[in-house]
Amino acid sequence: MIGEPPPSQYDWRFNFLGFPIRVTWLFWLITAALGYSIAMSANQLFSRLGQSPGIAPLLAIWVACVMVSVLVHELGHALAFRFYGIESQIVLYHMGGLAIPTAGFSFNRSGARYRLQHIDHIVISLAGPLLQFASAILVAAIAYAMGVFVPSAADFVEWIKPRGIENPWAQGDLSIGNPWTYTMLNFYILVSIWWPLLNLLPVYPLDGGHVVQHTAAILRRTDGYNEAYLIGAGVGFLVAWWFFQSGNPINALLFLSLAMNNVQAMQRFGGPPGW
Ligand SMILES: [Zn+2]
Repeated sequence: MIGEPPPSQYDWRFNFLGFPIRVTWLFWLITAALGYSIAMSANQLFSRLGQSPGIAPLLAIWVACVMVSVLVHELGHALAFRFYGIESQIVLYHMGGLAIPTAGFSFNRSGARYRLQHIDHIVISLAGPLLQFASAILVAAIAYAMGVFVPSAADFVEWIKPRGIENPWAQGDLSIGNPWTYTMLNFYILVSIWWPLLNLLPVYPLDGGHVVQHTAAILRRTDGYNEAYLIGAGVGFLVAWWFFQSGNPINALLFLSLAMNNVQAMQRFGGPPGW
């Protein structure tokens, strides 16, 4: 379910920055399904103001925003691989995106084989979420300059800001303005805040799970997998439970299946690690 899907004639293929990119047909379908309720609520908002573009265009904007945002995320991984001299290809599919390297090693100037170190893998794993989150900040700055209100940015700043600091998003005369611009900016920022945050959760094989695996490998001089599976199972069940509680069954099921995968992997590899 999480591995690379086989190529099909319905894939959309193109090149960007020298990376071959493949988008599977299921990516569009799943992304549209996940965005249906959000397009509905945007439609209600604009209908009240008497200027809704309609559900179909709103859903199309959602799908385009997710596609660009997830692509930016994978480009973060792919550019980090390239920094170490390793090329990769990008696949967008029903579980999000993958940056698939051509090798686990590169050659240095003298022609010797350089194998990626655990610290290099941590850098590569963090590069995706960080580039995506940076793009959210950039687009939020554009929205702010245009005077467009972005509720997700306002909530996020409120969530992380220290006490006593004013939230620039919560004040001023930011407005909805043009519904097309509002939707594009808001959908892009919403995805580009939450996608990297969820991916940084320490649940293997999400990016955060890879960071746990390679960190454990450095600290404990093992391969780090058993530690990553144990933490992935525990955190996966907790996050699933939290999503059930907050009325988000799709994300709950996703994390439940990730947690189960970690339990199975742990059993396959001979039980939890000895701490
Ligand atoms: Zn990633």
